[in-house]
Amino acid sequence: MRRASTLLLALAQATVILRASVPESSPGASGVLVSLVHASRLRRFTATERVSNVLFAVMHLSLVFVLFVPVSWRVIALAAGGYAVRMWAITGGYHRYFAHRSYKTSRAFQVVLAVLGATSMQNGPIWWASVHRRHHKHSDGPHDPHSPVQRGLLYAHVGWVFDRTLPRPRDESNVQDLLRYPELRWVDRHDWIPLTAYGVACFAIGGVAGLVWGFVVSTLAVFHATMLVNSLAHVWGTRRYATDDRSRNNPVIALLTFGEGWHNNHHHFMSSARQGFKWWELDVTYYVLRALACLHVVWGIREPPPVRAAAPASQSPTAPVVLEPLSRPL
Ligand SMILES: [Zn+2]
Ligand SMILES: [Zn+2]
Repeated sequence: MRRASTLLLALAQATVILRASVPESSPGASGVLVSLVHASRLRRFTATERVSNVLFAVMHLSLVFVLFVPVSWRVIALAAGGYAVRMWAITGGYHRYFAHRSYKTSRAFQVVLAVLGATSMQNGPIWWASVHRRHHKHSDGPHDPHSPVQRGLLYAHVGWVFDRTLPRPRDESNVQDLLRYPELRWVDRHDWIPLTAYGVACFAIGGVAGLVWGFVVSTLAVFHATMLVNSLAHVWGTRRYATDDRSRNNPVIALLTFGEGWHNNHHHFMSSARQGFKWWELDVTYYVLRALACLHVVWGIREPPPVRAAAPASQSPTAPVVLEPLSRPL
């Protein structure tokens, strides 16, 4: 197992190194040479990163156990429920709240969003928001952390996670608004605790089968569906708005990610909590937000102005990210 996971990591890193360091115009042999020289200068993984990398490999290798554990409606429901709750925590919490602040909520509920999101094996909310804000600032440019246009589909999907050319310690200058909350910093630093607690809960509910389906299968499904937005949603789909990037609207990804597949809409008006601008553009995340607003759990939900949503591509400049005070202090 250990050898196999090491091999998987080495392959992923080799892909990253090769994709990340070869300029577009480099010829094959010299490009590889440049990559090797560059690889020798890469920093070492930190201890935390090593643990995360091993966990990532072990999780994928553990998928083989679906062939050996008994399947029941109980564990299927556990996997589906875990997917639904945690996918919403990523889309409604990490993305539309922490990264874009497209609605308001209480300080207590923002911690709930942070903890739920941290059960998804996508690091903490501050890290996630920082990377995503960088994505919007440099969309499909050389400094975009995960652009399929710059570095290929595999890099944009998962390779960037292992990229040792990305700076450490990380740049947190774009998340100062989130760093003001010590409880968010705590969740961000200890994101492994909610993840572990979720795994233990799956085992308690369904035994080994619960762990395999509720934790492994469900977590990886949330992870890869999320990553599809970074990779395929900048390559495959239609463009309603002439944004400065290659973002696309893709109904399949929208279905899998509760509305995040309307990615061209989102890049056009990123401050909007609603991403499906037309009535037929299914946006489950937004519908849940509306339900939570009825219960007064969230408020101040941002909508796309009708004129902006309807503007033809050539007349619709990309809307800037508008940062306002995060949440009402308790
Ligand atoms: Zn994007
Ligand atoms: Zn976004």
